[in-house]
Amino acid sequence: MCLGSVSRSLLLILLLLLALPFMAGEARAAATVSAIEITPSNVTLRFDQPVATASAFMLSGPQRIAVDLPGARMSQVAASGGMIASTRHGQYDPNTARVVFTLNRSAIIGDASFSADHRALTLTLKPVTESLFGRAVRKGRQLFGLDDKPVDPRAAQRGGITVPLDPPRPLAVPTVTGARGTRRPLVVIDAGHGGHDPGSQSADGKYKEKNIALAIAKAIRDELVASGRVRVALTRSDDRFLVLGERREIARRLKADLFISVHADSATNSAARGASIYTLSEVASDRVAAQLAAKENRADILNGVDLGGENNEVSSILLDLAQRETMNISSQFAALLQREMSPTIHFKDEAHRFAGLIVLKAPDVASVLLETGYISNDDDLALLLSNDYRRNIANGVRKAVEIHFARRLAGE
Ligand SMILES: [Zn+2]
Repeated sequence: MCLGSVSRSLLLILLLLLALPFMAGEARAAATVSAIEITPSNVTLRFDQPVATASAFMLSGPQRIAVDLPGARMSQVAASGGMIASTRHGQYDPNTARVVFTLNRSAIIGDASFSADHRALTLTLKPVTESLFGRAVRKGRQLFGLDDKPVDPRAAQRGGITVPLDPPRPLAVPTVTGARGTRRPLVVIDAGHGGHDPGSQSADGKYKEKNIALAIAKAIRDELVASGRVRVALTRSDDRFLVLGERREIARRLKADLFISVHADSATNSAARGASIYTLSEVASDRVAAQLAAKENRADILNGVDLGGENNEVSSILLDLAQRETMNISSQFAALLQREMSPTIHFKDEAHRFAGLIVLKAPDVASVLLETGYISNDDDLALLLSNDYRRNIANGVRKAVEIHFARRLAGE
């Protein structure tokens, strides 16, 4: 168990303990969010029973504010206006309601306060620059409704207290390893899925894509580091969940030159096998590619709550010319990657496909998604679990990466 999940568990236990005084007489009393009111600078959530605490965090691409309400349930409320373009909501878990506000301009929570009876939570939104919004995204979760004194039942009367806590899962910018010097190209390797999102699973449920992807990502990292030609970072090096936009954001923040997302495929047809490489496009190259994009993009949807909220936006960003240039470079790299991996790795027919994959959307980082084989096929699964196959993949990636950057250096 990693530290992040320990602190997350502790936070959840703490929230539950804090909620207890408000649950007097009822097991799991669920307050219902009865209304959301929006004014030009405020958002007020109203509850039919007291809600002890709340927390909020910012998401970018598009800019959103997510509010979690332990001990609350959602009713059908919708609201927009002011700085709020739209509102989505759902149960994050049976005991926690999540409301996600999509912003129509960069804004952060300047202040948050519960009413004295804790039946209303008012967020005061403060317009900020894009870079300040980015800082708020990195700051992670803010907790509202308790202060640092020991909690007692009168906590409800205090109200109006904002306590920023260490985020349970901050978007930590990972360590960069490999060749020294910032002038070396940087390759970000992204192990798909993680945490509560296992990705594809073997028929018996024993093997999960998230673990296979991580093992292959690490093999690629080790091979690239050993080459001494590039710098390398992993979006995750343990079993944790990252929203698709966060993976891309890590690459952008590190100013990566190349982003490789590692996955393992699955199909209902257990005979399907072979590797494939995906790059971004507005229109999927075929039905299989469209289905794969739908499946991989689903990682952002938790219990019906869309964390990413950008499924429909792949096409709009593509109008950008910089994105088109990036897409060309991505496609060239995909071709090179297939060529260099092919001696040892079996590819599907038409192995280079195109689809609207959210994780590949960074407009300025060449990005490919590598499906390393089918976890649903016994032969492919045996390969995916073998060190030799992983090393072969890593070897092919290393060769392709070296040629890619040598070409770009030569200005080809
Ligand atoms: Zn996947």
